[in-house]
Formats: sequence, structure tokens, C-alpha cells
Amino acid sequence: MFGFSLPKLLFTALAIAAVWYGFKWLGRVQARQKELARERARRMKDTGTPRGRAPEVEDMMECPTCGAFVAASGPRNCGKTDCPYPE
Ligand SMILES: [Zn+2]
Repeated sequence: MFGFSLPKLLFTALAIAAVWYGFKWLGRVQARQKELARERARRMKDTGTPRGRAPEVEDMMECPTCGAFVAASGPRNCGKTDCPYPE
């Protein structure tokens, strides 16, 4: 007839479907892996420096008057009379 028969056509359709589903499955696996990686990265960021909160590791500096170590980003008065930091 036209160079192909019904079985051949069916086989071709099956092959196309197999490839199609194969790609779909691959995409799902890759998406899952990406999701897992993102989850891991987020968890690492959470334990490191959480957004919107003060970082857990902060630069400290010594008060020249009292010798107490205060956070460099927001030094606080330690209570000593000549402490240079605001209350
Ligand atoms: Zn001080």
C-alpha cells in the first residue's frame, strides 16, 4: 500500500510512546533530584545564616573600656560608666 502496514504503524506508535514516557519519567526523576538538592541547600542555609534573622556567627569586638566582647553590628552598653556604646 503506502509502504507501511498496520503492525508497523502500531510498532512505531508504541516506540514513540515508549520514548515519550521514558522522557517523562526521566524528567520526573531529574525534577525530584533537583527538589532534593534544593531542599538540602535550604536546610544548609537554615543552619547557617537564616534570612531575616541575625546571623549565628557574628563579628565580635572588644569594648575598649570594659573589655567585654560585644557584637560589632550592634554594640550595647555594658553598664560601666565610661562605656562608649549607647544604652
Ligand atoms: Zn563596655
